Amino acid sequence: MSAHTEDYQAFLAERRSELLERIAQAAAASGRDASQITLLAVSKTVGPDEVAAAVAAGYDAFGENRPQELVRKREALDAMGLADLRIDMIGNLQRNKINQVIGRTSLIHSGSSEHLLEGISKRVVARPAPPITCLIEVNVSGEATKSGMSPEEAREAFPRMLELEGVRIGGLMTMAPAASPDAARRTFAGLRELRDGLERSHGVSLPVLSCGMSDDFDIAVEEGSTLVRLGRIVFDQAYAPVR
Ligand SMILES: *Cc1c(COP(=O)(O)O)cnc(C)c1O
Repeated sequence: MSAHTEDYQAFLAERRSELLERIAQAAAASGRDASQITLLAVSKTVGPDEVAAAVAAGYDAFGENRPQELVRKREALDAMGLADLRIDMIGNLQRNKINQVIGRTSLIHSGSSEHLLEGISKRVVARPAPPITCLIEVNVSGEATKSGMSPEEAREAFPRMLELEGVRIGGLMTMAPAASPDAARRTFAGLRELRDGLERSHGVSLPVLSCGMSDDFDIAVEEGSTLVRLGRIVFDQAYAPVR
């Protein structure tokens, strides 16, 4: 291993302990146990070598936002002896790309429409492949630039999505508006309230709340996040928070 890689790995390990400490503090602030919270390292801006360095630094779960890149990382990491490494699909997924991710990921965060979840169901059944866990992506803040179902759409379509063969609804995912802590908090709280309501009215368990990124993850954990998706703050030595 080159000195450069060793330095980078040391940076990753040190940063990881800081992040786990911040997650623990935010969890404690809301009376929760930090062991319920997954730190997903979003590796979309780095290559397979950096992912391997992150594994050596203690990370065990990664996220990719493009199907092609997920495939490329999966193949490179398989060849590096990391075939069991968890890589979640977190970004926009078009129906014609679904087949690329089936069998290569066990959690799709970006279930942004009923139509897409139906497409995943059809392809899983057609293979046949084991059921895949999907989250419903909800546009809680209502910003036009964000993908996902509105809370009303999610509530309306929920009973049908629950019935989809080959798809297990594991919870909800959202993204908060940038650079406004108050709006971020309202968004995360809204996601949690939607989850609680769906659990109550349908008698199901939706354990995963995927929310919180580099600039807002402490707030997300305080508001109930069970999985934070962190990219820049994990991998970028020059990262500086915007708030
Ligand atoms: C890139 C990305 C992240 C991570 O964002 P950072 O601000 O770098 O932490 C999280 N979720 C999704 C869907 C992303 O595309």
